[in-house]
Amino acid sequence: MQEELDPFKIAQKQLDTAAEVMNLDRQAHAILREPMQTVIVNIPARMRNGETKRFTGFRVLYSNARGPGKGGIRYHPQESLETVKALAAWMTWKCSLANIPYGGAKGGIICDPKSMNPQELESISRGYIRAVGQFIGPDKDVPAPDVYTTPQIMAWMMDEYSKMHGKNEFGVITGKPLEVWGSEGRFDSTAMGGMYVMREAAKLLKINVKKARIAIQGFGNAGSFAFELATKLGAKVVAISDSHGGVYSGKGLDFQKLTETKEKTGSVVTYKGAEKITNEELLKLDDIDVLIPAALENQITAANADKINAKLVLELANGPVTPEADQILFERKVLDMPDFLVNSGGVIVSYFEWAQNRQGYYWTQDEVYKRLDTIITKSFADTLDTQKKYAQAGKKISPRTAAYVIAVSRVASAMKARGWY
Ligand code: NAD
Repeated sequence: MQEELDPFKIAQKQLDTAAEVMNLDRQAHAILREPMQTVIVNIPARMRNGETKRFTGFRVLYSNARGPGKGGIRYHPQESLETVKALAAWMTWKCSLANIPYGGAKGGIICDPKSMNPQELESISRGYIRAVGQFIGPDKDVPAPDVYTTPQIMAWMMDEYSKMHGKNEFGVITGKPLEVWGSEGRFDSTAMGGMYVMREAAKLLKINVKKARIAIQGFGNAGSFAFELATKLGAKVVAISDSHGGVYSGKGLDFQKLTETKEKTGSVVTYKGAEKITNEELLKLDDIDVLIPAALENQITAANADKINAKLVLELANGPVTPEADQILFERKVLDMPDFLVNSGGVIVSYFEWAQNRQGYYWTQDEVYKRLDTIITKSFADTLDTQKKYAQAGKKISPRTAAYVIAVSRVASAMKARGWY
C-alpha cells in the first residue's frame, strides 16, 4: 500500500493514534479532527504594470479553546488549503505542548513571492489583511512569518490592521522588526529552541555535545542558525545540504566559509574541500550522532527509515518524518524528537513578543533566551515523563505520540471546561 503523504491526512492520523492511546472522548476527538473555521479569500493586488491581479488566500483557525489562534502566513505557488489545515492543526498541538495561552491557526497565499517586487509584495500583504481582517486580532488570531514571509511583511500587515482599527495594534502580529516592537531573540529562536532540545536529548543518550557529529538537511533560516549555534556549542557539523544537493567533510564544515559560498554561488554544493553528496546520502550517513532535517516535509519515510544511522533525529522542519517512518525509528531505538516540540522556539518567542506588546514593557535578549529555555526544557521533560508513564502501564509509545497525548489532553480539557462537549 502506498504511504499516505497528504499533510492533513497525516495530521489526522497522528491525532487518531494519540486518541486511541489516551482513550480520548469520541466527541472531543470528532471536534479535533477538523478545523473550527476555514476562510478562503480573494485578494486583489496592484502589479507593477498597473493591472490588478487576483490571488487566493487562506486563514484556518484550527482551535481557539485555549486562546487566540496562532500561526504563520506562507507565500507559495503551491500553497493549498490542505497544507494550511495540517499546519494549523500542528500549531494547535505545538502551542498546547509548550503550554502557552494560544490555540492554533495558519494562513497562506497562492503566489510566487520570488517574482514580485517590494511594491507588489506590499500590495498583496495589505490586501490579505483587509480580506481576513475581521477574522484576526490580538485576542482572536495572531499571525506570524512563515515560508517566504518576512519581518517587513509583518510590519506592513500590522500597519494595515492598525489603520483599519484607528489605533496601533502591535499585538495583532508577531515576528515584526524591532523598530515596531518585535522581540529580541526572535530571528534565531526556532534554532535556539532546537539546540535546547538537543542538549536535553544528548544528556539522555549520553552524547557529549562538544564531540557530537551532526548532519543538517537545509541551509535556510532554521538550518543555518542551527549550524551556527551547534558549532558554538562545540559540535561538528559534518554535512549540510540545500535544494541543489549536499557536502560532507569528516573533519567538519566551516560556518563562515559555507555562508560565503552560499552567498557567492547560491548553493552550499560549491563548498571547497568537501565531498559532494546527495540529500538522500546525507540522511543515511553512518558516522553521525545527530540528524537535523531542517528543509522539507516527508524526507524520512518507510523507504529509508531503516537506513538512518544517527542516534538522535531532531525535527527542526515541519513534518519531515512520516507516521510509518516514525514507527520504524521508534522500533530501531533511534530517538526521534517531534517537530512540534523541536521547532516550537519560534512560536514561544512569538508569544513573548505578543506578551511584551500587551505590557508595553520589553525584555533583553538574555531574558528571552532564558524564558525560552525554561519552557522548551519543560516540554521535553513532560514528553519523556508521559512516554515513561505509558511504558510503565505496558503501552510503548513514541515521543511524538507522547507529545500528542499531552497536547491533545490539554486542548480537550479546555473544551470540556468550556462546556463544548
Ligand atoms: P527556508 O526557505 O529559509 O530554507 C529551506 C532550506 O531547505 C533551504 O536551504 C533550501 O535550499 C532547502 N531545501 C529545499 N528543498 C530541499 C531539498 N529537496 N533537499 C534539501 N534541502 C532543500 O525555510 P526555513 O524557514 O528554514 O524552514 C525550513 C523548515 O523548518 C520548514 O519545514 C519550516 O516549516 C520549518 N520551520 C521553520 C521555522 C522558522 O522559524 N524559520 C519555524 C518552525 C518551523
